[in-house]
Amino acid sequence: MSLDRSKVNPELGMEIFEYLKSEGVETPRRLNGLSEDEKIARISTSFRDIMDTLGLNLEDDSLSGTPERLAKMYIQETYWGLSPKYFPKITAVENKMNYDEMVLEKNIIVQSTCEHHFATIDGYAHVAYIPHQKVLGLSKLNRVVEYFARRPQIQERLTEQVYYALKYILETPDIAVMIKAKHYCVKSRGVEDINSETITSKLGGCFKDDAATRHEFLSLVRV
Ligand SMILES: [Zn+2]
Repeated sequence: MSLDRSKVNPELGMEIFEYLKSEGVETPRRLNGLSEDEKIARISTSFRDIMDTLGLNLEDDSLSGTPERLAKMYIQETYWGLSPKYFPKITAVENKMNYDEMVLEKNIIVQSTCEHHFATIDGYAHVAYIPHQKVLGLSKLNRVVEYFARRPQIQERLTEQVYYALKYILETPDIAVMIKAKHYCVKSRGVEDINSETITSKLGGCFKDDAATRHEFLSLVRV
């Protein structure tokens, strides 16, 4: 999924930003107030410098457009999840039918970037919750995962951020998030282990305290 600028909620994005900060799980950063064009111009200049340092010929017509192309990709495609103004528009609706069984969205695509090496993280997430007063449209779970994936990340924090954002929106701790992913910084460099996967999870409320609920979640994601 790509960013749909017509389906965003900047006010909710700022509320979530402040809430994650108060829980100590926001990405370490500051909101620097630069416009998108200013960010693209600055990244483009910096990356030109990196390419030049590597000895690449920036006069060559295959390379000359790369700094700006990469800067636009960072801002518009890979790292838009750093902007609270692009937090997805999510309306939690009243749970009128009083549905109180687990809602599980499995195999949500996770495409992110490791903040230690700026290498790809590629995997999927399983997200479940027990509805109380509020329920969400299913695709909203995918949108929340995608928003937090579209920034430099560590998988542990990504897992926590999805959990706390949903806790804020759904007003319940009864949420489970599990992410399974391959890290290309492990796969293609360092130990070069092509098969290893990293699994992280955050279980809250009854998923943590109630053995039956926890077991149900774990067995459903294994199917
Ligand atoms: Zn890494």
